Amino acid sequence: MTKSHHFQSKLIHAGVDGDPYTGAVNVPIYQTSTYRFSDLHTHKGYDYSRAGNPTREALEKLIAELEGGHSGYAFASGMAAIAAVFTLFKSGDEILISDNVYGGTYRLLNQVLVHQGIGFKVVDTSNRQAISDAITPQVKAIFIETPTNPLMSISDIQKIAEIAKEKDIPLIVDNTFMTPYLQNPLDLGADIVVHSATKYLGGHSDLIAGLVVVNSDDLANRLYLIQKSTGGILNPFDAWLLIRGIKTLALRMDRHQENAGRIADFLAAHPAVEKVYYPGFTTHPGHMVQKSQARGFGGMISFVLNKAYDIEAFVKHMHLITFGESLGGVESLMSHPATMTHGAIPKEIREKVGIVDNLLRLSVGIEDVEDLIAELDRGFEGAR
Ligand code: PLP
Repeated sequence: MTKSHHFQSKLIHAGVDGDPYTGAVNVPIYQTSTYRFSDLHTHKGYDYSRAGNPTREALEKLIAELEGGHSGYAFASGMAAIAAVFTLFKSGDEILISDNVYGGTYRLLNQVLVHQGIGFKVVDTSNRQAISDAITPQVKAIFIETPTNPLMSISDIQKIAEIAKEKDIPLIVDNTFMTPYLQNPLDLGADIVVHSATKYLGGHSDLIAGLVVVNSDDLANRLYLIQKSTGGILNPFDAWLLIRGIKTLALRMDRHQENAGRIADFLAAHPAVEKVYYPGFTTHPGHMVQKSQARGFGGMISFVLNKAYDIEAFVKHMHLITFGESLGGVESLMSHPATMTHGAIPKEIREKVGIVDNLLRLSVGIEDVEDLIAELDRGFEGAR
């Protein structure tokens, strides 16, 4: 691929375009753990699949190109990817994180890495002054999600990257909600991008995977060492499935966004809904920043059900919309952050940031939007 090719063409052809040995249009699944050496020192570039596998490598090259980075690494889950990135830090270091990051990221820091002496600080990263004020010599990285999960708070990547550069610490961005189709954090000055590829990149709720893209030789060497040493790699079949999912990313995201815009308007106008979190609204505090750094508003919406409505009854009316964890699949998925994705966050912290018990998160799928609106409407009616 050349630099002049557009993103949509890269989705189909970037990384490794097919199979050079047979002409097959798809990268084969190299289902092998090991490789033959022809003599004591010689092999064909691969010695063991934890260290390198051609199918995984094709995916890693693909995501690196899509994010405009130096190199990519594929892991067995988004959490394995984030854990690998956090392995860059040592005892005594602190990581500054956005105040409503994915609950699993919080749990990793709060319940696992804390035992290894890695600390963290929770900050409202939509407030740049709060970030600057929180940076002490112990803070060795800034980790943000934008939009955040589930409250869709927007952080200014470029401005935060400037703060990080000034302090000589890396900025890590979880780009799961936006995907490289809508937002490219490395172009805005971030150093590392992570993805739960389980979500929009895979797109079909049929795999678990994580990706990391870094912007420098130094980070690439360190991440590769961590990947092959800790071994949380993505298997060849899921790497292949992910390459296949990524091919239709642009088409899917366009439809997710279109449907989400319609549903956000419907929810905002409904008396059963107390509040809607959607960055596409001009009234959203992060709307202008979102417009300046991303090419859309994504397919995620969170909303607070009016207390006069019964949340249990509402959820029971969801059929076409699957009630369950996760997001980013072709099917609409609704979740209850307080008990599901963010259950690991203590109630006081959750409520303080707005993850209240009647908050619901909707990952808008690509079904016919009229059917989705009709189902939500029936749900509200049945929950009165
Ligand atoms: N980051 C975000 C924003 C997520 O929503 C999730 C999962 O929901 C993760 C990371 C973790 O990814 P995985 O479930 O693939 O481990």
